[in-house]
Amino acid sequence: MIGANFPQLRNVLCLGAHSDDIEIGCGGTLLQMLDDNPQLNVCWVVFGAGGERADEARQSAEAFLADTSNKRIVIKDFRDSYFPAQWTDIKVFFHQLSQQFQPDLIFTHRHDDRHQDHRVLNELTWCAFRNHVILEYEIPKYEGDLGQPNLYSPVTEEQTARKIELLDEMFATQRNKQWFSDDTFWSLMRIRGLECHSPSRFAEAFHTRKLLLQTSSRLADSNAESAIPTTRATCDETQLRSPLHTPGSAKS
Ligand SMILES: [Zn+2]
Repeated sequence: MIGANFPQLRNVLCLGAHSDDIEIGCGGTLLQMLDDNPQLNVCWVVFGAGGERADEARQSAEAFLADTSNKRIVIKDFRDSYFPAQWTDIKVFFHQLSQQFQPDLIFTHRHDDRHQDHRVLNELTWCAFRNHVILEYEIPKYEGDLGQPNLYSPVTEEQTARKIELLDEMFATQRNKQWFSDDTFWSLMRIRGLECHSPSRFAEAFHTRKLLLQTSSRLADSNAESAIPTTRATCDETQLRSPLHTPGSAKS
């Protein structure tokens, strides 16, 4: 199958509700993208990580993004499992984010994920970024909500192993969870690799609701957000603090 690619990819936004979501959902794809293109500008936002989990989130993000110096890592501490009740604050944060960073590609949770925090991020991603490529990643879990993806990203065996090694190394607080194990991560990537006939046998998979088939440069969308000058493509953590930095609310 001829693969779609994004030759002009410069700015990538990674959104995750909890400290290990981005890594599980698209960590292999990111490692591979950065291996091929270390100039990539990545903004990485974890919404619900406090205390020890915030430290894990930051260290892990640094490790996954080690190949690029163009990165911003933002760790918020919206209350885990209560994102629907914090909808307004999270939406305000999304608005700030969309004013500061215009990505060419966004990784976020999928629409049909059964975790309430994941669904909130999915819905607000589509609210805040309305003319962007959005890829929704999958998280294996007890609820058994894995669906049928429609976009596959083959990942080399080396990068698959690196992803799983980093997950194991970075998230000590999760090791006692029955599902958080090497065989879970290898198995899902092997199945997705099987489904897309990956040359390496491994892949990550995504759900995408809309993509453009651009058959002529004359039909390029002049309003596409990727046309926005890169000077706007920054993600300043300090500017993202207010007005959310209030007692009882989220903070970086
Ligand atoms: Zn999560």
